[in-house]
Amino acid sequence: MIEAIHWREECGVVGVFGAPQAAEWVYSGLYALQHRGQESAGIASMDGGRLLDYKNLGLVSDAFRGGQLDRLTGPSAIGHVRYSTTGRNTLENAQPISVSTRLGGVALAHNGNIVNAQELRREMEARGSIFQSTSDSEIILHALARAQDATFEKCLAEALSQVAGAYSLVVLTSEAVYGIRDPHGFRPLVLGEKDGAHVLASETCALDILGATYIREIEPGEMVRLDASGITSWQLFPPSPRKCVFELIYFSRPDSIVFGESVHQVRRALGERLADEHPAEADLVISVPDSSNAAAQGYASRLGLPYELGLIRNHYVGRTFINPSQAVREQGVRVKFNVVRSILEGRRVVVVDDSIVRGTTSRKLVKLLRRGGAKEVHFRVSSPPIEWPCFYGIDTPERRDLIASTHNLEEIGTYLRVDSLGYLSMEGLQLVQRQPATFCYACFGGKYPVPFKGMPTKLSMENDLEGEKHPVDSTP
Ligand code: AMP
Repeated sequence: MIEAIHWREECGVVGVFGAPQAAEWVYSGLYALQHRGQESAGIASMDGGRLLDYKNLGLVSDAFRGGQLDRLTGPSAIGHVRYSTTGRNTLENAQPISVSTRLGGVALAHNGNIVNAQELRREMEARGSIFQSTSDSEIILHALARAQDATFEKCLAEALSQVAGAYSLVVLTSEAVYGIRDPHGFRPLVLGEKDGAHVLASETCALDILGATYIREIEPGEMVRLDASGITSWQLFPPSPRKCVFELIYFSRPDSIVFGESVHQVRRALGERLADEHPAEADLVISVPDSSNAAAQGYASRLGLPYELGLIRNHYVGRTFINPSQAVREQGVRVKFNVVRSILEGRRVVVVDDSIVRGTTSRKLVKLLRRGGAKEVHFRVSSPPIEWPCFYGIDTPERRDLIASTHNLEEIGTYLRVDSLGYLSMEGLQLVQRQPATFCYACFGGKYPVPFKGMPTKLSMENDLEGEKHPVDSTP
């Protein structure tokens, strides 16, 4: 019997074709994408038909500490950073995954989640496939290896026609590097150029670190091939864009252009809209750094309130979510944030965060702010309540652990011990989007664009959630 396939994972990918030592470029790109995954890092390169690779646990700089990069020679390479909370954090689930097929050596790096992975794997195992990991990405390679078409592109298309869900992929072969986005384009993937070499990356910040020029996004359903003759493009599947709005709200770096939009500007606009919907009588506005800085600035400027640095983040601590156990995470908040007492003392403070997931971070932060002297704490969130888990590549906990799925606004306010609480509305969020209908909002509304077996429904979840409430403790 197979183990559960991993679905709670976040990743970043990079691909380079035509650079003198492509692996070095990939390394820099991954370094810029470190926020997308901190558990493992890997690079595969191609040198004269020889596929070379190295993967290790840890941050990019730690994973490649031993000079392994020098061995990854050749003009083309791909790389991956990964973060996952479920199952084992073992090397076998790290990427790129390299295999040898009748089509030659192939390496693949995947950002997103295949939602029919379990069924596909069961079928493949029944027909004799042997899997080396519990990663959903390996399924794509098995499907590719079995495809009987004449060209590599056709085999890849045939393999991908079987998988459902989210995939932004970079694939390395002896001749080319491919970039592919699923028809919904859940996860981002961009194309850039430097000195005649082409670069694929999850976000433009990976192009910036290389000094590469941003060309464009890979379109939903599109496959590009980067090789010695340049760029070739195919529309593999009709596009039906449902881009992840949470990339813009929280996940991507603010200095990136994602889905054609400046992440910083979108966050600022969300903060402005939040101020229109939920103004507060206060002396100053602070952010929960770094992901909500822009939203807090937008909020403050809209209301003519000063934006101050009341919370300081220790940058040398991993993300709070990196610790899988609740107890460690609760402690982690104080390790990660501290207050600037001189700013907070005796003041009415608005604190803007980009999202509330479990509520544990926010509750701790409110406590910190009060201890730091804040007279009033008004919590504002630049996204709607997260009520549903993501199955397409953002790490969110089970539904029962999402505070907004079990509590109403008043109860959440009581739990957080705030003087007031306001979330951005769905309408507000959509007003900020340039093309709101092209985004996925499943985490807010539970409408999953790609249906799958075992998908949570309102009814099934309601039964599940009976009696699962967080304790609402209102003691000061
Ligand atoms: P929580 O304590 O679960 O409510 O955590 C909320 C905080 O986690 C907010 O400050 C968010 O910026 C941040 N956050 C939201 N989504 C994620 C995620 N997928 N991984 C890590 N942190 C997140």
